[in-house]
Amino acid sequence: MAKFKYCSICNIQLDPYDTYQVNGMLICGECYKIKKKYPEVSEEELREKILNVREKMKKRFDEFIVVTVPKIEGFMKVEIARDVEKNVNIGYCISTINDRNIGEIESLYIEPDYRKLGIGNEFMRNALDWMDLNNVKSICIGVSVGNEEVLSFYKKYGFFPKTIILEQVNNKYK
Ligand SMILES: [Zn+2]
Repeated sequence: MAKFKYCSICNIQLDPYDTYQVNGMLICGECYKIKKKYPEVSEEELREKILNVREKMKKRFDEFIVVTVPKIEGFMKVEIARDVEKNVNIGYCISTINDRNIGEIESLYIEPDYRKLGIGNEFMRNALDWMDLNNVKSICIGVSVGNEEVLSFYKKYGFFPKTIILEQVNNKYK
C-alpha cells in the first residue's frame, strides 16, 4: 500500500484530492480553510486550536454500538456511532460477509457535522478487521454514480474502481 502523508498542521492523514501546499508544507483542506480565514495566526497556534476542538469532539462520540447478526446467508455487522453528549446517533456502517465468503461494505454514513473527525476511518478499520478475522476472499464496496468524491477515501484502504454495474429499474425497453 502507498505510504501515507500527514497534514503538517493537524497531523491528519492527507487525502490526495484535498491537500494544499502552503509555504512548502502539505496541509489538509480543513487546515487550509482555517489558515486562509486567519492568516495572521501562527501554525503552532492553529495546531493547538484544531487539535483541541478535535479532542473535544472525539470525547463526544467515543461511544460505538456494535451489533453482529446472522443474515439469511452469511453475516452482517452493524456499527452505530453516537454523540454521547447530545444522545443522538451520528453515523453507521453496515458490512456483510456472504455465503461465498465475500465481504462487502454495504453502507457507510456520517452526519455532515461529524465528518473529518476520524469516525469513517474507525468504521473502516473495524469492518476490515472483522472481515480479516473471518478470512474473506475479497471485499467490495458499492459507490453510487454521482457520489464519486468518496473514492479517495476508499483508495486509502486499497480499494479501486473495478466494475460498473448497470441497473434497469422498470423495464423501459419494452
Ligand atoms: Zn490539517
